[in-house]
Amino acid sequence: MVIGAGPAGASTAILLAQAGWRVILVEQQVYPRQKVCGECLAAGSLALLDDLGVGRAVVARAGPELRSVGWMSRSSTIVADFPACADGPHRFGRALGRDQLDTLLLERARALGVDILQPAKVRAVRSSAARFDCEVETSDTRSAPSAPPARTSLDIRASIVIDGHGSWETGPAYIEDEPAQGARSARRSSDLFGFKASFYQSTLPRGLLPVLSFTGGYGGMVVAEDDRVTLACCIRRDALRECRARIPGAPAGAAIEQYLRDSCPGVRSVLDRAQHGRCWLSVGPLRAGIRIGRTRGPFLVGNAAGEAHPLIGEGINMALQSSFLLARELLKQPVAAIDASRFREIHQDYGAAWRNAFANRMRLAAAYAHLAMRPALCGPATAVLRRWPPVLARAARWAGKNRSPAVPNSFCEGAP
Ligand SMILES: Cc1cc2nc3c(=O)[nH]c(=O)nc-3n(C[C@H](O)[C@H](O)[C@H](O)COP(=O)(O)OP(=O)(O)OC[C@H]3O[C@@H](n4cnc5c(N)ncnc54)[C@H](O)[C@@H]3O)c2cc1C
Repeated sequence: MVIGAGPAGASTAILLAQAGWRVILVEQQVYPRQKVCGECLAAGSLALLDDLGVGRAVVARAGPELRSVGWMSRSSTIVADFPACADGPHRFGRALGRDQLDTLLLERARALGVDILQPAKVRAVRSSAARFDCEVETSDTRSAPSAPPARTSLDIRASIVIDGHGSWETGPAYIEDEPAQGARSARRSSDLFGFKASFYQSTLPRGLLPVLSFTGGYGGMVVAEDDRVTLACCIRRDALRECRARIPGAPAGAAIEQYLRDSCPGVRSVLDRAQHGRCWLSVGPLRAGIRIGRTRGPFLVGNAAGEAHPLIGEGINMALQSSFLLARELLKQPVAAIDASRFREIHQDYGAAWRNAFANRMRLAAAYAHLAMRPALCGPATAVLRRWPPVLARAARWAGKNRSPAVPNSFCEGAP
């Protein structure tokens, strides 16, 4: 059973179903749904989406190739060529709305015979040895719109559970095991909240991905499908409070938009005549960091395993790659051969592969994020970029933007 049909959960379901496993995928929301996300797909993600069977459909719908990267901080806008991916079928990334990407993956899973429970929420997972008992609550949304959806409770027994529930809400309770997420920590001024909105008729150049740096936060903009521009950003709790205080009574999204326009002339200029598309969405507080490291209970993929600061726009790539890494370990034997001791070994091997693939990138993302949130501190860095814009391309390269995936294509060939 796979919990959550985001990129991590849906791609794991696809890989296991492709190898002949019987899979149930449980998603709490009705699709298509919007999501707070910058919606950039790295070139490496496009290669993985090919392997998952949705690559062509994604490229056909997505926005233009991202061929330049920018840095917008205060009055500076610096642009450099995006580093091309040296190997693999795609040289540059693109952007596609999460309503479309996640639906394509879900429908691919369905076409491969995955049983999909939606809308349904996994409430609790009880594990013992290599067996899981899961409590799932389904909602019947066909009742009258004014009536609350009828809820039914289901018990599902699975030999393996994979948790791809993301990281922005409380996951299922793990019973007789470590909790899926630690207790929510106390509110801190440094807590980060994610926001996203869409615009049409913006003058943002097609194929440019500018990173926005402003006091207390960072963000990015991109032209996605149908010339829709996505603006996504993260902002600290204290900065959010301040910008809301400047426009009393305004919704948080409107206050942030005004703050971005005021603090970043580059944003003001490209949104000057733009029309709002979808309204502002928010999530938070975000929980950047590594959570993987368990040796029992459900396997974690995507943000549930670990979350990089979104500044580097690698979350979907990491979610997809983590599914491939886990599926590679699981498919080394038939499902019936996974007893309690093999289970532990798979946890360990997958955890090691995960850290090897992502730990450094996450540290770098945190360093970039902290710099970007302090434009006063990154003055010298901006001066360097203004003089030598290719340093920006180098920074994108360090963040893994032109790296091909950590897993070889068609890894499941020959799987039992
Ligand atoms: C502001 C911002 C900008 C970003 N920009 C980018 C970007 O440009 N490029 C990029 O690659 N990444 C970006 N990211 C990161 C990216 O959005 C995430 O890393 C990615 O969504 C993680 O995928 P996932 O499958 O792990 O989780 P999610 O996409 O969060 O999916 C989890 C799914 O699980 C479901 N679920 C949760 N709990 C349950 C339950 N109990 N039962 C059933 N279903 C459940 C949820 O409804 C959801 O559909 C950004 C993030 C933020 C905050």
